[in-house]
Amino acid sequence: MSNNNIFVTRPSLPPLDEFIPYLSRIWEAKQLSNGGPFHREFELALAEYFDVEQVSLFTNATIALLVSLQAAGVTGEVITTPFSFVATSNAIVLAGAEPVFVDVDPRNLNISAEQIEAAITPRTSAILPVHCYGNPCDVKAIEDIAKRHGLKIIYDAAHAFGVRHEGSSILKAGDMSVLSFHATKVFNTFEGGAVISRDLATKTRIDEVKNFGLVDGIQMPTVGLNGKMSEFNAALGLLQLKHVGNDIKARQRVAAIYADRLGSVPGIKFPCGVNGPANGAYYPILITDGFGQTRDELFETLKTNGIISRKYFFPLISDMEAFRANPSADPTNLPIAKRAASQAICLPIYADIDRKTVEYICDLITAAAK
Ligand SMILES: *Cc1c(COP(=O)(O)O)cnc(C)c1O
Repeated sequence: MSNNNIFVTRPSLPPLDEFIPYLSRIWEAKQLSNGGPFHREFELALAEYFDVEQVSLFTNATIALLVSLQAAGVTGEVITTPFSFVATSNAIVLAGAEPVFVDVDPRNLNISAEQIEAAITPRTSAILPVHCYGNPCDVKAIEDIAKRHGLKIIYDAAHAFGVRHEGSSILKAGDMSVLSFHATKVFNTFEGGAVISRDLATKTRIDEVKNFGLVDGIQMPTVGLNGKMSEFNAALGLLQLKHVGNDIKARQRVAAIYADRLGSVPGIKFPCGVNGPANGAYYPILITDGFGQTRDELFETLKTNGIISRKYFFPLISDMEAFRANPSADPTNLPIAKRAASQAICLPIYADIDRKTVEYICDLITAAAK
């Protein structure tokens, strides 16, 4: 493999000279963490950007998921999707609960709202769905089930930066939503994350748990951890926020090329529609029988030609060694997710990929289809 390989994603960085004044401010103030001025400013800026009530910044989304589950008082069983990144289920286990896997909807590969209800037991305390690839879940149906059974809903919105649904932010759905600002996501602070909540009491609880569990600095009713975002990451986030709109537009232009060139190739299906998710976070396609090569064969064909795509998500979380013994991980319980894991491939998409490269990828795929 040469150094000229094209990878599935490449992080967006602002011009370095724009970041220097932010760093100067940190060096002058010498407040490096614990809710400094950039931390406060970034929380408010994100709340305005998303049009949501409360934002709590985190060191990453995995800790943010764990703290959300703890702050919500989750115990027993949490219903979730196996078609996600491992962090989703890991957070449930780390919070002291047990994941219960439910199959996905073949139309969009999000958790099947219809199948959630059958998985509810007296031990169920919450639902942890994922807006897979940034495609909104059936939030109304999930809300309805949660209300009827008195369950909390925490969305893993790691892919859903800036996504809107029926005229408002998707982050307003459920009790809390968790974002990731990891380097590989649409919007990055190198590492980082946030929890969106509905009211100040919930935000205060989240902020206590992420600060060791301390209340007013001296009391500690429950054990917490350290999930705080530093001033460096918060300052970078504030600057990135000025550029992310253009980045998303650039990603949408890339998706439009894929849509144009791949839309009518036999055997390719589009779980987020042919234009991909609204924020251009990923460009997932499903390689079905009519294509003429398997997903794994296409992956190798691309790789041989210097294109490093990603089998996202493969393997299913429920097929990982740590989860295989979970009764709900039985593959016969999850046929749609199992099939999707064998068909899904995410194509390279990022703000500064050039048109020629995208067209080259499309040429490789159309040639493979014949
Ligand atoms: C990236 C990702 C996470 C974890 O985010 P980190 O910020 O890297 O901890 C969680 N869930 C999903 C669906 C992700 O894609």
